[in-house]
Amino acid sequence: MHFETAPAKINLTLDTLYKRKDGYHEVNMVMTTVDLNDQLAFEKRNDRKIVIHTEHRHVPQDRRNLAYQAAELMFREYGVEAGVTITIDKNIPIAAGLAGGSADAAATLRGINALFGLGVDIDTLAQLASKLGSDIPFCVYGGTALATGRGEEIERLPKPPKGWVVLAKPKMKVSTKTIYQALEPGKNPPVSAAMAEAIEAGDHEKMMRLMKNDLQEVTVKNYPEVSKLIDTMLRNGAEGAMMSGSGPTVFGLVQKERQAIHLYNAIKGCCNEVYKVRLLG
Ligand code: ATP
Repeated sequence: MHFETAPAKINLTLDTLYKRKDGYHEVNMVMTTVDLNDQLAFEKRNDRKIVIHTEHRHVPQDRRNLAYQAAELMFREYGVEAGVTITIDKNIPIAAGLAGGSADAAATLRGINALFGLGVDIDTLAQLASKLGSDIPFCVYGGTALATGRGEEIERLPKPPKGWVVLAKPKMKVSTKTIYQALEPGKNPPVSAAMAEAIEAGDHEKMMRLMKNDLQEVTVKNYPEVSKLIDTMLRNGAEGAMMSGSGPTVFGLVQKERQAIHLYNAIKGCCNEVYKVRLLG
């Protein structure tokens, strides 16, 4: 038996630069992990099956699960002739912009590597991860990083100053595809390189000033709840507040736990899925 923790991520920045010939958008993002985790357990099987167990009714238990795809890729790539049972204790909200599925896939790459003693180094795992999804290489490393390309090229950054995060996931479903279709890439000046410098300098105020997500302005046009939540966060002491990834989760950042408690209590009244967690970085 082997265990892995899969933390959620938030975006501190998301710059969309231009649409590439392959259809992806060229992005620059600074992402960091938060203490909201899925827990995964891995157990060897004697047959050649990949079996996924999860009690979450909206998470697929078959090949559609990114953890399944990650296990299959590791077995194929390293010629492992065995099977595995993966139990996923799901705590990260799904389809939320928090990369929950990607975190599970990354944890599975690490988990299969450890369980079968394959000895694959982390950079190779991250390269392999890019075959499965753009956010998965970041999730292989965790921590804080500047991601470029379609999000799969990772430059690791130091931990940002300590802080707390209040996350609020509104009920509605947003379509990432629709958002990207409505987007005008390159409209806003990119901020990710400056954010990386602010993190390297440990400059909390500059970090808060630089927070920006190009997908947010598209989303708020169709979902005014998102901007309402951001305003409520800012009115209740959030030093920075923004939508994460393609949303719809909104998060507020503060430095002290008492501010986080105040923010949590203020947001609880207007959103039914709210979390107060530490910034892991
Ligand atoms: P991202 O931030 O990368 O856009 P997300 O938070 O929007 O991710 P996920 O929670 O990763 O979205 O899941 C999106 C969809 O992927 C789900 O609706 C689900 O059907 C599918 N999925 C596949 N594997 C998983 C997994 N291990 N956990 C959750 N969802 C999964």
